[in-house]
Amino acid sequence: MIALERARHQLVTLGLKDAAEVLDGRLEQAAKREPPYVDFLTDLLEAELGCRRRRYLETRTRLARLPFRKTLEDFDFAAQPSIDSRQVYDLATLSFIAHADNLILLGPPGVGKTHLAVALGIAAIGKGYGVYFTTMYRLVEDLRAAYEERRLERRMRIYLAPKLLIIDELGYLPLDKLGATVFFQLVAARYERGSIALTSNKTFADWGEVFGDTVIATAILDRLLHHSHVLNIRGDSYRLREKRRSGFLRSPAEADGRVVDSVGQLPTGQTGLQSNRP
Ligand code: ADP
Ligand code: MG
Repeated sequence: MIALERARHQLVTLGLKDAAEVLDGRLEQAAKREPPYVDFLTDLLEAELGCRRRRYLETRTRLARLPFRKTLEDFDFAAQPSIDSRQVYDLATLSFIAHADNLILLGPPGVGKTHLAVALGIAAIGKGYGVYFTTMYRLVEDLRAAYEERRLERRMRIYLAPKLLIIDELGYLPLDKLGATVFFQLVAARYERGSIALTSNKTFADWGEVFGDTVIATAILDRLLHHSHVLNIRGDSYRLREKRRSGFLRSPAEADGRVVDSVGQLPTGQTGLQSNRP
């Protein structure tokens, strides 16, 4: 057993902790199957590399601060006919990140904008890209605080470093002048350098209102859209659809047009029960 102890110690000393951990088991297998020496060695190293990669992805995913973990496989394209699945799978090749193109996901609440942005984020992490997720509200509040404490430039680096910056929920809250200005600075700084994936419930025509200023809204749109892919999602909220399926939510007709649960605002005119049921 002394030789085994030594081998384990040597692996640990070399920083191959995972290989050291599986050494016993692999040796036992090898004793039974008697594989060629080189197979035994690559098998052991493969175990080390696999563990390292998992840990690396786990760390990157944690650092990305995704609100949940859902992938493209979890996305039901049949439920959302306004989305061209080919376009999404094309995006999933992530060449848009290699080109520093932006991605804009537009549509009413619950249609899968955040889900798709997160899924592409996870795919990007898998390919080794740095990803960071934030909401428009958190982003602007953070940059505003940094500006007021005279450390905007330093703070901005957090949002400039990742190759893919996901900014969720533009348009739920209007911005004041300072908010609009710091957002413009961020978009301008990332322009042609790193991708932004942005979700919004507002059409571009409403952005003047969101930013409280059409000049700055135009300047932002100009840079965001120059190299961009836009996904315009229409249709019913997936959340409400699930609720309706379970019979929890009455149809809008039955409910007299009133909002009948706590899910939040209903996208007007798009919640009709026009048979999502099979
Ligand atoms: P949005 O950001 O457009 O408001 P989300 O992406 O948060 O909507 O979607 C709301 C919920 O419904 C999430 O749990 C999401 O995973 C799910 N969802 C939405 N669309 C689909 C879909 N087509 N297939 C599977 N799940 C979906
Ligand atoms: Mg969302």
